[in-house]
Amino acid sequence: MGTLTARAANPIDTLVQDKRVALAMSWLDKNLDWVTEQQIAITEIPAPEFHEAARAAYVTQILAASGLDVHTDSAGNVIGERSGSDRDVVLIVAHLDTVFPAGTDVHVKRANGRLLAPGISDDGAGLAALVAIARALDQAQLKTQMTLALAADVGEEGEGNLRGIRELMAAYKGRLRAVIALDGAATDYVTTIGLASRRLDMQITGPGGHSWSDFGAPNPITALARGIVQFSRTRVPDEPRTTFNFGVIEGGTSVNSIPAEASVKVDLRSEDDAELSRLESELRKSFASAVDEEMAVAVPGSEALKLKVSIIGVRPGGKLAPGALFNAIENVDRYLGNRSRLERSSTDANLPLSQGIPAIAIGAGGQGGGSHSLEEWYDPAGRELGLKRAMLTALMVAGVQP
Ligand SMILES: [Zn+2]
Repeated sequence: MGTLTARAANPIDTLVQDKRVALAMSWLDKNLDWVTEQQIAITEIPAPEFHEAARAAYVTQILAASGLDVHTDSAGNVIGERSGSDRDVVLIVAHLDTVFPAGTDVHVKRANGRLLAPGISDDGAGLAALVAIARALDQAQLKTQMTLALAADVGEEGEGNLRGIRELMAAYKGRLRAVIALDGAATDYVTTIGLASRRLDMQITGPGGHSWSDFGAPNPITALARGIVQFSRTRVPDEPRTTFNFGVIEGGTSVNSIPAEASVKVDLRSEDDAELSRLESELRKSFASAVDEEMAVAVPGSEALKLKVSIIGVRPGGKLAPGALFNAIENVDRYLGNRSRLERSSTDANLPLSQGIPAIAIGAGGQGGGSHSLEEWYDPAGRELGLKRAMLTALMVAGVQP
């Protein structure tokens, strides 16, 4: 048996020699225009956080037309299953939600080979890959050993706080062997470390009043500004990389009223949990002293300002351990001649990683940029590499039935 067996033993070679796998890959090559059409159709259905249902309905339709057993769970996730021969599950997930509020123009424009629209890449590219893989597997009539669950999930961005993936993790508890999150474009990285983050809402309330007659009363907006300036002086290390952002500010009712309320939402991230805790306590301290400062200059006897800190999101961190999923993506990259680096990021993969379940986040192919901005773009050139990479990685872990 010696040499022949040894030569055939590389599992990626065995996999790609399977006629059905070859068929699925060539289906992807031949249907790139269809994939782009799906990406445009999906992107043009608005899906702000907590309002993903219309987009979910569209994805349901495509997955169902690809022979999947599709249902929607209580969180609003769309899940299409291809049953395997055993109970274990490999989950491929792309997120439905975008960071853009209702009313944002999501019409897709084309210029110089690029597609332009908010959400076109994050996660229009991932959702397009999800439906493409579903269709390719169906066309090739591929049967896997583990069950493949293809999910378009809710709540990945911002204040969704990973509620979609949370629900999926609960639903497949004890059966999940790998999670592959398709997020954005590109093929030059693999996210194997989930970046921990905390998101807080800092709210300051006070008596309010008239800008003229109550002048001198403590002003929540001024106090908030003091807190922002103070905290912004906090030094953060490059290593472990640690960041903060004041993302949304609200408050006040009219130009000639002293506001009764003002608030700001803050995003804290770090490669290290201890650093994150230090940052959070600095933030709390800065705002508490900002309130004191504002009270110190207010008319004596003024009603005190109140600071209320709410945690609006906690993403636990985690790291992919060596094992089947790690081997799979490495082998697939070698087979496809794709060079990639290990990355850390904050995605749906955070949650499984924090629970010790193997998970990665990868791009869905092509190129993209301007994510989370109105100038977001996507270039589909070379997309097939990302589609095959994701599909082969899933098949490597799930195993193909003889
Ligand atoms: Zn994303």
